[in-house]
Amino acid sequence: MKGKTPRRLPPKKASNSQKDPVGVYCRVRPLGAEDEECCIEVISNTTIQLHAPDGLKANRNGEFKETQYSFKKVFGIKTTQGELFEDVAKPLVEDIIHCKNGLLFTYGVTGSGKTHTMTGSPGQGGLLPRSLDMIFNSIGPYQAKRYVFKPDDKNGMEVQNQVDALLDRQKRDSQTTVPKTPTTRRIDPEFADMISPEEACKADGVDEDSSYSVFVSYIEIYNNYIYDLLEETPIDPIKPKPPQSKILREDQNHNMYVAGCTEVEVKSTEEAFEVFWRGQKKRRIANTQLNRESSRSHSVFIIKLAQAPLDADGDNVLQDKNQVNVSQLCLVDLAGSERTSRTRAEGSRLREAGNINQSLMTLRTCIEVLRENQMCGTNKMVPYRDSKVTHLFKNYFDGEGKVRMVVCVNPKADDYEETLLVMRFAEMTQEVEVARPVDRPICVCERTFMLHSHKMCKSPTVLNQLLQSFPPLPPCEISGPNDDVTLPRLIEALEKRHKIRQMMIEEYNKTANMLKSVLQEQDSNLLSKENFIQEQRGKLGEKDKMLQNQKNEIDRLEKKSKMLEYKIDILQKTTNIYEEDKRSLQHELESREQRLQREMSEKRRMEARMQGIVTDSKLKWEKECERRVNAKQLEMQNKLWVKDEKLKQLKAIVTEGKTENRQPQRPSREKDKVPAKRSASPSPVPVRLTDIFQPVFNATGPPVRPLHRRSHSAGGERWVDHKPNTNVDLDTVLQPNLPNAIKVNAPSEKALSKCDKYVLTHQEVASDGEIQTKLIKGEVFKTRGGGQAVQFTDIETLKQENPVAASRKRRSSETGPDGEPKEGDWTDVETRCSVAVEMRAGSNLGPGYQHHGYPKRRKP
Ligand code: ADP
Ligand code: MG
Repeated sequence: MKGKTPRRLPPKKASNSQKDPVGVYCRVRPLGAEDEECCIEVISNTTIQLHAPDGLKANRNGEFKETQYSFKKVFGIKTTQGELFEDVAKPLVEDIIHCKNGLLFTYGVTGSGKTHTMTGSPGQGGLLPRSLDMIFNSIGPYQAKRYVFKPDDKNGMEVQNQVDALLDRQKRDSQTTVPKTPTTRRIDPEFADMISPEEACKADGVDEDSSYSVFVSYIEIYNNYIYDLLEETPIDPIKPKPPQSKILREDQNHNMYVAGCTEVEVKSTEEAFEVFWRGQKKRRIANTQLNRESSRSHSVFIIKLAQAPLDADGDNVLQDKNQVNVSQLCLVDLAGSERTSRTRAEGSRLREAGNINQSLMTLRTCIEVLRENQMCGTNKMVPYRDSKVTHLFKNYFDGEGKVRMVVCVNPKADDYEETLLVMRFAEMTQEVEVARPVDRPICVCERTFMLHSHKMCKSPTVLNQLLQSFPPLPPCEISGPNDDVTLPRLIEALEKRHKIRQMMIEEYNKTANMLKSVLQEQDSNLLSKENFIQEQRGKLGEKDKMLQNQKNEIDRLEKKSKMLEYKIDILQKTTNIYEEDKRSLQHELESREQRLQREMSEKRRMEARMQGIVTDSKLKWEKECERRVNAKQLEMQNKLWVKDEKLKQLKAIVTEGKTENRQPQRPSREKDKVPAKRSASPSPVPVRLTDIFQPVFNATGPPVRPLHRRSHSAGGERWVDHKPNTNVDLDTVLQPNLPNAIKVNAPSEKALSKCDKYVLTHQEVASDGEIQTKLIKGEVFKTRGGGQAVQFTDIETLKQENPVAASRKRRSSETGPDGEPKEGDWTDVETRCSVAVEMRAGSNLGPGYQHHGYPKRRKP
């Protein structure tokens, strides 16, 4: 659909696939002079042959071919206007009466007889007056009163009511000088006797139930401008006003029309002629005034036929615009088709001529494109809009009506070349097919019914009339046997009556049949409508059901939605509660974590402290163990020494038994001592202590009671201060002070030999876990064997105490204000035992005193 909008497609085209070629007729006019050279020969009633004139033949070396052209029909020089009309225009007039459009144009060079064919002359009326005449002959009795139909300004037709129409008529009568009665008409001599009464023809099948009206327009297209030739403008012969051009518009049915063009309602052929001649006159005046040649312009005469059904009474036109049908017949007298060169025009004339030919060229191009589209199945845009003529008639080529063309030719030699072109165009045009216009039904159903009903109503009166027209019966009395008048008269009258009766029966049957058929039609209509209604009801029911279902569904969904909303609400609340819980739990968790953190750090601190304590006690116990092992070793050595000594004594006794006189006392003394010492062994504690604190420094000889004590000369006693390496330094305030002491960490004979006093600093862990330091004191004796022996005489106990923990013990060990323990206060079992042992071992010394040293409080 390139270049052609779908909107512009006439709807009727689609509904009708039947097409007819454009009807192209050829009319050959007689030569102007009989001795003129003739180039056209009519071969048959459809074919002509062109003969090249002699001069042209000579120019072309005699090679010029003779060509034949065929047409729908060829009309020779002798053809009358009536004959032409019969074949060419009559079908178009019939069409217009049957609501179909028609387009008829004459084509040819100037002087070929176009105007003669279209308009004609007095006595030789052309297609236009004949068409008008035929129309009026056909619709004459069915014409509507003037102004019942009224053209709107959009190419449509309205129906005025009686009153308005009457008012319009009165207005017209008062304004116009036209004589009221057609009988007194003045016929212009120019168009008088155009059609002789015997030539009058009439269309068949005119709808008697319709009302008709004819409107005519007359336009001229000059230099591609449209002028309204019927426009009522005061003509000023002195200073003529140039006519205003009109524009083309498209109506709602996509038909083109000249906007604002005058449409004159005409009621008779004469009146129509009058209007036409008025236009012609105007055209002639304008051409003269504007120095134009009428052959350069296209003239278009449009006959519009409006028809509408009568109302039920059959008196008035049905007041319904939709029931009005308008058909039109366009009669176009085209400008001369000759080329510009032939016109010998100059200046502005040349331009005009060019334009004239331009519009014909456009017509040619349109026809070419139409033919190409139809033959090749292409869809090229037809350039209708390129000129006013083609634009105005484009609907006809799109299938809006029949198109006919009369090609006029002048057989004279001068026209030969132009005629050739005309022939070619004609040939081409014939190949173009135009969709056959469909019958436009006027809403028959209702109208027919109404009119038939109306007729039905009217029928009784017809019958009554017939009844009334019954001839009265003549007197039946026979006057005598010779009365041969009465009976025949009666017979005649009865026969007449019988005839009328037959007629009545016929009429009745006809009417009955008609009514029957109408009723049947109505019945079927009603049935179909009922079916339709039933169908629609069914659909409605379905829709209702659907609606109900949807409503139910909506209800259900609403309920569901409400429920869900409720659930959401509950869940929201629950969520809130849980969140609250979560928050509090988190709080708790945080505080617990903090506590845990604190406890953990506490624990770590404790662990570190415990670690310290464990390390300390481990160290302490290791030392203790070492000391005990040492002590045990010493004890074992001591035991060994005791055994050795006993063995030695036994040996001495054995040897002394031989020298008894020499030393009788001493062995006994020794004897006394040994058993005493032996008897001490059963008690474990004293033995242990004795064993521990009786070290023997000279393994070579037994400990003997020294014969004398070392003299405590000038510096007093001299001490061996034995402090084993394993001992721990005590941080006590009171430290034993031994001047002149020889400090050793292992007992040595050398040190003992120089001193007379011995002190061992011994440390052990007491039952309460505190370190107890004991100062074990003894006296050094020289043994007989030349060695040194120590006799333990005293044990001083130094005990560090926690003042709180030791408060109990303090009570039992009374101390003086100077911190020195009181003599004779025996609180320590070990010390007592030790002393007991020493005494049993033969010492005469008093018991040693106990020293309680309070150590500085330990740091935690
Ligand atoms: P066109 O309109 O094509 O220019 P016209 O119709 O004016 O030509 O014709 C020119 C002249 O020829 C007129 O005088 C006309 O009477 C005459 N003429 C044309 N056709 C015929 C015809 N078929 N029979 C007799 N005269 C004719
Ligand atoms: Mg003409």
